[in-house]
Amino acid sequence: MQKRYITSPIYYVNDVPHIGHAYTTFLCDMLKKFYQLQGKDMLFTTGTDEHGQKIEQSAQKNALEPKAYADKISARFRELWNEFHIDYDIFVRTTDNTHCLSVQKAFEIMYDKGDIYKGSYEGHYCISCESFFTQTQLGENQSCPDCGKVTQIVEEESYFFALSKYQDKLLAHFRAHPNMIAPAFYQNEIIHFVETGLNDLSITRTSFEWGVPLPHNPKRKDDKPHVMYVWLDALLSYLSPLGYMADGEKMPYWEHTTHFVGKDILRFHAVYWVAFLMSLELPLPKHIYTHGWWTRDGAKMSKSIGNVVNPKEVANAYGVESLRYFLLREMPFGQDGDFSQKALIERINAELSNDMGNLLNRLCGMSEKYFDLKIDSTDVEAYFSEELEQIHTLAHNTQEKMYHI
Ligand SMILES: [Zn+2]
Repeated sequence: MQKRYITSPIYYVNDVPHIGHAYTTFLCDMLKKFYQLQGKDMLFTTGTDEHGQKIEQSAQKNALEPKAYADKISARFRELWNEFHIDYDIFVRTTDNTHCLSVQKAFEIMYDKGDIYKGSYEGHYCISCESFFTQTQLGENQSCPDCGKVTQIVEEESYFFALSKYQDKLLAHFRAHPNMIAPAFYQNEIIHFVETGLNDLSITRTSFEWGVPLPHNPKRKDDKPHVMYVWLDALLSYLSPLGYMADGEKMPYWEHTTHFVGKDILRFHAVYWVAFLMSLELPLPKHIYTHGWWTRDGAKMSKSIGNVVNPKEVANAYGVESLRYFLLREMPFGQDGDFSQKALIERINAELSNDMGNLLNRLCGMSEKYFDLKIDSTDVEAYFSEELEQIHTLAHNTQEKMYHI
């Protein structure tokens, strides 16, 4: 049986689940079920991203140890996916011991290969986004281009991943695999980004402690203890549940991998992650499916405005399946979509209740009235060959469209 692997991003425990998390997770669950109907052997992982300076700070504010804080938020995600009937196989947490060991071993492989070297990093750093930015990337008043907060100049000893070494290899791979990142305009965006030149990537931090520590290696002498940069840690959560660098039991699933990501984290997956995998000499993901963002009633959702949609509240009011249907139906895949109660009610009434509900009702009613709920298959094939043909074509076309989102 063909093995297929689907991943949702692991969700950052600095935030409680919102509608965007629910959307990505529903997408993964939908694709898993679709492949399962075709007899494929599926593995689907989701989980939580629990390290980093922001978590350390949030835990402090809540008077908790970082791990206790992460436990609390991680449980909320897991409970919600269970309530939403999300059929994940493994829930990975970056604080799992097996995960931390995978990250450390991967680091050593890349280090021994000469893809990781020590340097010093100075840059405009956004604490909120845990990212350094170059001068040209900054917004007004040295603000972070992603969240708008003021950045600070930070210099620290850091290990670097030689990302620039992989520029040509990345471009060659994207050109040879034009359907890797979908929809296609995202692949073009990434190609353009790589073509403008890649800087080596700082992949360790000494400014905080809440992370996977660097493995002990007598070849390395550090002034201060380093922890892994959050993205290196988080991305490896796609491999650690498969037993990477441990028993390797589920590694055969890796051969056919589909990642679902939001457009805000595409670059980390399509460039950094793919380059890490090249360095680790592992197969590359077959697909990186990229979706847009949800707005609410036409406006950007934000905690400060207080208009963030809580998926649990919507599901409690309208039912999980209605929410699932609405999210998957309303947003054209890859583009942004708008969440409004009005649109949700309209879709439920017009499509689920009137169209689907009435069709089913009539089918059942008439089957009972005229045929005593029995269908003679010979007659069906004789009298409705044309209609059956149309149904087969429709099913075939649907499959094609699902493969080429
Ligand atoms: Zn920021």
